[in-house]
Amino acid sequence: MIANFKPLKIAVIGGGTAGCMTAAHITKYFPNFDLYHIYDSRIPTIGVGEGTQANFPQWLESITGLKFNELQTRCNITRKFAIQFENWGSNNKQFIHNFYPIKEAYGYHISADKLAELLKDHISATHIDKKIIELKSDGVAVNITFEDDTELEFDLVFDASGFPKSLDNDEYKNISVIPTDSALIRRGSAVDFNWATRSVARPYGWIFIIPLTSHTSYGYIYNSSINSRDEIEWDLSQFLEEENVTPYNESKHLKFPNFSCRTFFNGSLFKIGNCASFIEPLEATAIGILHAQISYASEYLKYLAKSNSPKQKIDESIINTFNELLFQIVSKASLFVGWHYAKGSCFNTDFWHFAQSNFEQELDKSVDTKLLGKFESYIQAGSEVNYFLSFGKLNSSIKPFGGFRPASFYEIGTGIGYYSSTNKNQQLARQH
Ligand SMILES: Cc1cc2nc3c(=O)[nH]c(=O)nc-3n(C[C@H](O)[C@H](O)[C@H](O)COP(=O)(O)OP(=O)(O)OC[C@H]3O[C@@H](n4cnc5c(N)ncnc54)[C@H](O)[C@@H]3O)c2cc1C
Repeated sequence: MIANFKPLKIAVIGGGTAGCMTAAHITKYFPNFDLYHIYDSRIPTIGVGEGTQANFPQWLESITGLKFNELQTRCNITRKFAIQFENWGSNNKQFIHNFYPIKEAYGYHISADKLAELLKDHISATHIDKKIIELKSDGVAVNITFEDDTELEFDLVFDASGFPKSLDNDEYKNISVIPTDSALIRRGSAVDFNWATRSVARPYGWIFIIPLTSHTSYGYIYNSSINSRDEIEWDLSQFLEEENVTPYNESKHLKFPNFSCRTFFNGSLFKIGNCASFIEPLEATAIGILHAQISYASEYLKYLAKSNSPKQKIDESIINTFNELLFQIVSKASLFVGWHYAKGSCFNTDFWHFAQSNFEQELDKSVDTKLLGKFESYIQAGSEVNYFLSFGKLNSSIKPFGGFRPASFYEIGTGIGYYSSTNKNQQLARQH
């Protein structure tokens, strides 16, 4: 006899990119759960996050059923084939970091606000618009308390409520290999150059230029303990003037932590998006990492969907494996992003001296020798990449390092002048 259990009650907290992607994914692939989508519409979403990676278009099309033209109308998308780096490294030249295969694979530049709006049309859930004041989770169930003192209990909760309020405890690891912590965002009108995100090194950091059909986003990424807001405002204006851009919105200042939580998942609570981890947007890794988090969570959801019994506490070793895998993804992506600073830029400024030396120092301090060994083996593999062979099928068989294959290491390493430096062998033979 098959027992009939009530469908599991699942909540997704957050109406930003992370919450909407997660709730839309569950709606599409796990329609039998009793889904709740909870966010407080008075708490704004971060509203940035407009560059994506090559797995994103397929996912978005599978969720919405919309093709490129319809998505362009709804979310102002353009196809992103690469990132174009300008003024980075010791070669002082422009170089490209492609998606592979080159000219075929692409991500989207997409309006973050419109993406959330679009995804909400594809979420089928009980919607609750209230502020949460407490989450209590014991690994089997989660109890949510709202500001009006009402409570609800769930079997599983995805917490996509954005950056944690504080990071000063054992729950989080600060990612110090990244030298930036702040952004100044502005907008200008749409530009013709839209097949790549531009990443332009400047004296106090670097600027992303993300081209949408409706507008272009400019973000100056910098370190607030080295440069002041006034310096950044001034240098961004200089840049916009050089580019003949008249910005048309107010300046938006943001401070961001570079961090990863240690426990993404405890059996009943899954942290996701900016609530779980963040590293600066140089390689637009946030939505890519979020995608990986959703994929891992889906494995657990598949298991729950199949099991014909009430939810039980899951084995500690399974939880540890989840957490280790998710932590590794962020750690690897951080090393790859931090490495972009290893040869500085064409600017001889405090920021670039710090960024370059910080990378070396933080690597030396690292205790995870296994991870560093792996990182160095990818740097080595990148230096040996046969450009013509490696961007095809051959290369795709190699497992990526935090989402990046040797071809990416090749393009960044060559672009910043890492491989051409005379002390290459010395760099690769670091002792840890
Ligand atoms: C400068 C900058 C540039 C970036 N560029 C990129 C990029 O190019 N590509 C990329 O992939 N990513 C980028 N990101 C990352 C981007 O922020 C994330 O991809 C994405 O927006 C995830 O945000 P989120 O949904 O986790 O959180 P948020 O957008 O902060 O959403 C949080 C949600 O939780 C709700 N909430 C919060 N607290 C409560 C509460 N107590 N009760 C109820 N509801 C609550 C809020 O109402 C909101 O709906 C960038 C980030 C920064 C800072």
